[in-house]
Amino acid sequence: MIDICEESLKLQEQLVAWRRELHRCPEVGLETPLTAAFISKKLTDLQIEHQTNVGGSGIVGIIRGGKKGQTIALRADMDALAIREDTGLSFASQNGNMHACGHDAHAAMLLGAAGILCTRRDQLRGNIKLIFQSGEEGPGGAKPMIEEGVLEDPCVDSVMGLHIGNQFHEVKNGQVGLHYGNVMACLDSFKIKITGRGCHGAMPNMGVDPIVIAAQVITALQTLVSREIVPTSPAVVTVGIVNGGVAYNIIPDEVVLIGTARALEQGVRDQLAGRIENLVAGIAQGMRGGYEFSYTYGYPPLVNNEEFTKGFKKTAEKIVGAKNVIEIAKPTMGGEDMAYYLEKVPGTFFFLGSGNPEKNADYPHHNARFDIDEDVLWKGTALLAQGAIDWLENNGGPA
Ligand SMILES: [Zn+2]
Ligand SMILES: [Zn+2]
Repeated sequence: MIDICEESLKLQEQLVAWRRELHRCPEVGLETPLTAAFISKKLTDLQIEHQTNVGGSGIVGIIRGGKKGQTIALRADMDALAIREDTGLSFASQNGNMHACGHDAHAAMLLGAAGILCTRRDQLRGNIKLIFQSGEEGPGGAKPMIEEGVLEDPCVDSVMGLHIGNQFHEVKNGQVGLHYGNVMACLDSFKIKITGRGCHGAMPNMGVDPIVIAAQVITALQTLVSREIVPTSPAVVTVGIVNGGVAYNIIPDEVVLIGTARALEQGVRDQLAGRIENLVAGIAQGMRGGYEFSYTYGYPPLVNNEEFTKGFKKTAEKIVGAKNVIEIAKPTMGGEDMAYYLEKVPGTFFFLGSGNPEKNADYPHHNARFDIDEDVLWKGTALLAQGAIDWLENNGGPA
């Protein structure tokens, strides 16, 4: 049997075609019916048993190995963003949405891996679950899929997924970035309504000005990270929306602030959630105003299992060569709902560098000109397929 690298390379043209086809019809959120239909059709062509409409448009496939063993899940997200594409590519999206994060590539690479793995099912020491998930960019597709039992029947013992692109500058084109432990932050949000009492802008003493209170709140929130969180633990508090007021000479009744809180550790996260409200309450009360507050726990911090990741490092070295496996020095404060699977079962989320300025593939993620260097697609397929085989071999039960 030819090796996985060779087989993946042979699929390269096919992977590009799949990725482009998905790129043309990006869909946003949990309901991505066209994308799901495309993937379901390919799985049917490969004669892979699968279930559709799991937690939205999610798809779960299963490849049952010929030998007894454990079950590893391979996960790809497949949703896009509400961004109008500005790449000028021949296969650019025309529908106002855009695959500006590379999820089109993730789905294509996992389809490639599925093809390779199902031709080897007799030799597989255990099962492979294929998870194609929507809603990663929001509101989150992993959680509903888990709630609908994606990690059960057969019970999933480990999980693996990847992100293509250029999130980490040290992970160059075609290289694999790994990190042991907490590598991405939680993705929480909060909404603060400051209530005052509207009045004429020339007579502020007649009312309670929520804009001035909001200004104090915004400034004070920044002291949580600088004065209260342990300096060696990363955290971010960002107010992204400030809404209030209608005219230059009117003090409004209320101001709404909406923002995000990020942390790599659960303890820091809880600290932020509690302290943001305390600060708002104290400031609003001290300035004669009121408030309403809500904090939404979003995606948890993403934690890679150290032992699993060490094992995967050996796989990655086989595929891309040891010098191209990079240990990521610093985590990112971006979030990922892959974190939900990794909360339940050990595994790893790795990064495949696809930046290439010569191909205009060096724009940041979520930019209207974001693109990937398609030449790396086969590597993603090989990494997923070989990663699954190696893990099953090394963690398998009796033959
Ligand atoms: Zn994204
Ligand atoms: Zn993404």
